[in-house]
Amino acid sequence: VTVSMTVPTTTATRHIILISGKDSLATAIVQTAYQPDLPYELVFNPTGAELPEVYEWIDAVAAYLGRPIVRVGRSLEEVIAEQGILPSQQARYCTKYSKIFPLEDYLGADETVVYYGLRHDEPERVGYQRKSRGRGANIRPAYPLRMFCLGLNEVWRLVESRGLLPPAFFWRELHERVVARLGSFSGIIDTLAPWEHRQAFAWRSRPNCSHCFFQRRYEWAGLLAHHPDLFWKAEAMEREIGGEGFTWIRGLPLAELAGRADEYLEKRVGAVVKMLYRKAQLGIWHDEGEEVDGLGLVSCGLYCGK
Ligand code: SF4
Repeated sequence: VTVSMTVPTTTATRHIILISGKDSLATAIVQTAYQPDLPYELVFNPTGAELPEVYEWIDAVAAYLGRPIVRVGRSLEEVIAEQGILPSQQARYCTKYSKIFPLEDYLGADETVVYYGLRHDEPERVGYQRKSRGRGANIRPAYPLRMFCLGLNEVWRLVESRGLLPPAFFWRELHERVVARLGSFSGIIDTLAPWEHRQAFAWRSRPNCSHCFFQRRYEWAGLLAHHPDLFWKAEAMEREIGGEGFTWIRGLPLAELAGRADEYLEKRVGAVVKMLYRKAQLGIWHDEGEEVDGLGLVSCGLYCGK
């Protein structure tokens, strides 16, 4: 891990903390405590495709921190219509046009430090790629969680102790099926720490766009179960913009996924049960925080549900 021991504040006039998930919120808590006198601006980059639960959480965070959270973003629906194709791993223009460009416009030419929520226990994650000139060259990245060697477990505790965990997205059906499958072993669920429990039984691993192409199949099934209107809206976009052969999930149109939703829920049940057995046998999870994320992590990058 490359650890920068100093926050680059020398000539910066603005200090931006992006809030999008538990890691970035922990970053805000740590950084504002570390250098309380800097003129921080908290920024949320909405695309308009977030779930209603996410907006409620953002409001709760602003109330707790006692600072406004400015919303800087562009409608992803508009951007997709403009581009004429669905965003994907190969054409990931969504973050750029809906979040990064609006942020750069918001900052203008001001020398700025942006604080990102990269953790100490994810050295493989690449930080912000600083530009040498042009748009965005005035942004200098800082990673307070890495600077203070804070990993996943510390982040969970920090955020949970303040009652500010992002939406739980609890999936009752998933929980009931796991309990039924475990039978007399279901007591091992009680050994989970609260944040482990949340992660295991969530229908969504992070508070990002409802139709994010990074999500897993069980998350789409969860979206269908909890926000069918948003699922079918995504399905309509897939038909109208994606067209034949260009689907949110390669080779699996959402209409087909909807017909197989129970299969994906069952697969998720199997994954959670397997993880619980491993935990019981090996005593993992408490010590190896990555196991918690291992159940649900999808990588959207620095701006999306991080
Ligand atoms: S959450 Fe997913 S769809 Fe939304 S901007 Fe990020 S990568 Fe794109």
